[in-house]
Amino acid sequence: MYSKVDLHSHTTASDGTYPPRALVETAIRRGLRVLAITDHDSTEGIPEALATARGSGLVLWPGVEISTDVPGAEVHILGYCVEFRNPVFQGTLRRLRESRVDRARRMVAKLAKLGLPVAWQRVQEIAGNGAIGRPHVAQALLERGYISSLPEAFNRYIGRTGPAYVERYRLTPEEAVQLVVGAQGFASLAHPVNVGPAAETGEQLDLEALLPRLVPAGLAGIEAYYTGYPPEIVQQLLRVAGRWNLVATGGSDFHGRGTLTVGVGEVAVPEQVIDQVRERHARQQRERAAQGKPLRQSA
Ligand code: AMP
Ligand code: ZN
Ligand code: FE
Ligand code: FE
Repeated sequence: MYSKVDLHSHTTASDGTYPPRALVETAIRRGLRVLAITDHDSTEGIPEALATARGSGLVLWPGVEISTDVPGAEVHILGYCVEFRNPVFQGTLRRLRESRVDRARRMVAKLAKLGLPVAWQRVQEIAGNGAIGRPHVAQALLERGYISSLPEAFNRYIGRTGPAYVERYRLTPEEAVQLVVGAQGFASLAHPVNVGPAAETGEQLDLEALLPRLVPAGLAGIEAYYTGYPPEIVQQLLRVAGRWNLVATGGSDFHGRGTLTVGVGEVAVPEQVIDQVRERHARQQRERAAQGKPLRQSA
């Protein structure tokens, strides 16, 4: 039995291994009603995904996952139902992706100094047309036999505190929320607790410090159902969602073959989340329109 809803997934447009078409076909086969594709800093997979979903029983939500950070920890912001063709939105995503290329190149240089040379050309080949990320560097290290698993690359070299880690241009968490809302989207805080496949993301987030910053910026959801989250974490996050009047969202964070996440549709997300997001999103759009915020352009 698969869940009807999966609001967190990656394709070859970033560091997933399934092309958008294959991911959508899998979700259709599994009987999902709604799938959100949320590639890192990219919506390049969305047109192909929408075309594949057309005429099927599956509704594809154009999404994105924006990587930001606070001292000591990563903060990932999910955007749903974004007007992804918005040029201001795309300009910012492009700048974020460009900073990923430069960072990957500098990580490769650091790895060479550490005695772990990998060919930059090979890393680029692995990333293909997708937004380049640390998993692509990790894959190159694995191919050269320097490590025996992808997590080992993060633990030993390219995790936030690793010797080959390099920073890059990032938005602040508030700016990422504003970017999503400016593109008429619904913003949700991804994997807020540091267990499961996102466990490389550093220290635990201080939600009581972060949410007073993000809710006024327009945050509307928080990811409560997630790969590896035990029931007590889900319950804890449902309480946080209630306290802050956020919709509890959820998804697998599916990345494809050879990764730590479970399959698409394999995290139990209640079907009612679909309507909760839709209603909250519609209300937010009405309120923005009433405040004279542009409906078709980024602020
Ligand atoms: P980046 O976007 O380049 O900062 O890379 C972060 C991505 O690497 C995450 O979104 C995951 O897809 C992946 N990742 C993070 N930690 C690990 C890990 N310990 N093992 C495997 N993949 C990881
Ligand atoms: Zn990823
Ligand atoms: Fe993430
Ligand atoms: Fe993700």
